[in-house]
Amino acid sequence: MSHDALSYDKAAALIAKHAAKLARLRSPVERVDLEQAPGRVLARPLRADRDQPPFARSTRDGFACRASEASTHASLALTGATKAGAAPSGPLKLNSAWEIMTGAPVPRGADAVVMLEHVEAANGRVRLLPPRTVEPGENIVAKGAHARKGDELLPPGTRIGPAQIALAAACGCATLPVFAKPRVAILATGDELVPVDSSPAPGQIRNSNAPMLAAMVAEAGGEPWVLPIARDTEKALDSALAQAAAADLLLITGGVSAGKFDLVEPALLRAGARFHFTGVRIQPGKPTVFGETPSLRRTTLVQDQDGTKCQNQSRAQHCFGLPGNPVSSAVTFLLFAAPILAALAGSRDTFPRFALAKLASDVKAKPGLARFLPASCTFAGHTPEVALVPWQGSGDIAAMARANCFLVVPEDAKHLKAGAIVRILLT
Ligand code: AMP
Ligand code: MG
Repeated sequence: MSHDALSYDKAAALIAKHAAKLARLRSPVERVDLEQAPGRVLARPLRADRDQPPFARSTRDGFACRASEASTHASLALTGATKAGAAPSGPLKLNSAWEIMTGAPVPRGADAVVMLEHVEAANGRVRLLPPRTVEPGENIVAKGAHARKGDELLPPGTRIGPAQIALAAACGCATLPVFAKPRVAILATGDELVPVDSSPAPGQIRNSNAPMLAAMVAEAGGEPWVLPIARDTEKALDSALAQAAAADLLLITGGVSAGKFDLVEPALLRAGARFHFTGVRIQPGKPTVFGETPSLRRTTLVQDQDGTKCQNQSRAQHCFGLPGNPVSSAVTFLLFAAPILAALAGSRDTFPRFALAKLASDVKAKPGLARFLPASCTFAGHTPEVALVPWQGSGDIAAMARANCFLVVPEDAKHLKAGAIVRILLT
């Protein structure tokens, strides 16, 4: 089929618009243990169950005191000691100090902690050594300085990683409410394909796209559902599409170029698809197709484990036809499918991850095409530095496996010079 290909910027804007629309729909919610939470998306706000920190806390081993008294360098009587874990104590008497450990509650009446290393301590008395003085609040984190009881600490839509898990644990949450993972059907098409565990006959190749895309889907927060390989016939494609209709998102690889056996677009049309684009001026990945088909799923009322009722709207199923060449499939997944998948997963963070790096050597552009070339970025120095990985075109899986990013060559670039700061797409 011949269609006008969009510029990369237009295609990206269209994807962003659809992602924003999807992000407003509600998905079912489930509860997972903290160990199962990495990579999931928070479905309800995480709130502080008490003030954080819950008591005025010393950040040093030393002596709690009144800053005004300690700063005169007077000798202060030691009147008590508090270890981490001990209940808050005090009040601190006038002209006295209180021994304290890191993480321990500061006694009432004290407004600063002087460090162990900064005092002279002898015979039950301490003195701050001149010329050092101390300000009120020094080495103390006030009760509630990080958050007040009931404050929203994380909004729904936050992707959960180690830091969010630490926060949940600090708030006493052994489980978290997360959005159900979107189910992503992966359909590899092609007469030449055989499954990974069979030996290819002459002319055949192994289906490497399906396991690659399954890994990418899992990493992006989806539940991969790999369908059997579909042959390049109308019948095979129609029945595979009917089966895939139960998925939240459909990724098809192969069969979207202009060849005689590229039958995916017509098959999607027969399944009722509307296309948002059927070609993007990028290399690799030009024939990429993005559309939606009516979903067979019914509207259901689901009740999540917090007791909140929400409607699982019957939404159209978004679908991608990704070019079969493995590098094309990978690039177009990252650029276009990953944002839609992130939105379906309920994440607020739906954009492809671009970063900046210094280019190691000159790169030629292809006017009229934005290029995404397998590249290797090293983070060893002060500024990340990126170099192209030599490759033999978009079927070169070995080159892609040696790369850790894609160098972006904009559509309007003449060429990129060594030393220039360039964009890279992180994998
Ligand atoms: P197509 O997009 O169907 O024209 O395929 C383009 C190239 O990608 C051809 O060389 C195919 O053999 C190859 N290819 C298609 N599907 C896959 C797959 N699932 N795994 C590996 N290579 C594939
Ligand atoms: Mg094919």
